[in-house]
Amino acid sequence: MPRPIEALIHTQAIAHNLARARAHAPDAQVWAVVKANAYGHGIANTFDAMRSADGFALLDFAEAQLLRELGWRGPILLLEGCFEARDLELCSRLKLWHAVHSEQQIDWLAMHKTHEPHRVFLKLNSGMNRLGFTPQNFRAAWTRLNALPQVDEISLMTHFSDADGDRLGACGIAEQLANFERVTADLPGECSLSNSAAILRHSEALRSDWVRSGIMTYGGVPDFPVHDQQHWDLRPAMTLRSKIIGVQQLQAGDTVGYGSSFTADKPMRIGVVACGYADGYPRHCPTGTPVLVEGVRSTTVGRVSMDMLAVDLTDLPRAGLGSEVTLWGQGPKGQVLPIDEVAHAAQTIGYELMCALAPRVPVTVE
Ligand code: PLP
Repeated sequence: MPRPIEALIHTQAIAHNLARARAHAPDAQVWAVVKANAYGHGIANTFDAMRSADGFALLDFAEAQLLRELGWRGPILLLEGCFEARDLELCSRLKLWHAVHSEQQIDWLAMHKTHEPHRVFLKLNSGMNRLGFTPQNFRAAWTRLNALPQVDEISLMTHFSDADGDRLGACGIAEQLANFERVTADLPGECSLSNSAAILRHSEALRSDWVRSGIMTYGGVPDFPVHDQQHWDLRPAMTLRSKIIGVQQLQAGDTVGYGSSFTADKPMRIGVVACGYADGYPRHCPTGTPVLVEGVRSTTVGRVSMDMLAVDLTDLPRAGLGSEVTLWGQGPKGQVLPIDEVAHAAQTIGYELMCALAPRVPVTVE
């Protein structure tokens, strides 16, 4: 018998969530963002469910190649563009659109010998200060690109730092949007601005021709805990589940796990689950992190170890060896434990948990 842990990828949920992105941005084309192996869900696992997307956005040439091998002939955007000059050959071969965010990338294009001109997305740093040309340098970059025979279409993009929050001011979305509009006002070309949070929360930013649906595609809520999955009508695309492989009866004063960080203050029954941080479950989850035992809410107890964690069975007398434990995602009878809740307990975000699913966890696509 293999260890009982497994991840399920719910393709219908992905199709539903992409439809939600489209419903929020009815006039835009929707890129499914599939970087980091589709946020840990697997590009090959999720591709069929994402066929309704107008394109795919990612970073990695191997992932772009995989999409082509899977039969995708439509647009693919490299969100960070090329990392070295010879990447342009791959862009030509795989017919990739690519972001241009630096003078160096323009230099590479200028030196590139190609028969087929490239479509590029010129990136404005509108306030996030990650990638992109400053408002002062953007137009010069556009003019330079526009003069290159290697480039036949220039689109315009930016990325919001705070679309999931309510921050106003220097780096708030209103300021970034105003910067984008001011700098690009009289430039031709399609635009791409919105990530999931902006798709869901900022209709004022939806004039963009292309939106980038990342976390919401996978049922993650970008502005959790302000809003939850139900609020945005998103469905979890990944379930992590396992089984109870040990049961312990505790007396008041007994402790659980490494560091004895949890001490029982009454008689308790705990179940030991075959899931630990080597499976991708965050070690930072404290006692009290929610789990579902046979679909019923309970909590973790004590420290998460490499291959195991403990859950409270005191009020679940029917649960025991072999009981199913849902660490996040969909429970056995349709109950939902949002990944965002678990991430929140670990003081991180659902994105990180999805991407950290360990290769040793077997995946079933359904
Ligand atoms: N666009 C860019 C440039 C990104 O870096 C990302 C993700 O980090 C996305 C879009 C998708 O963001 P989200 O997953 O929040 O929708």
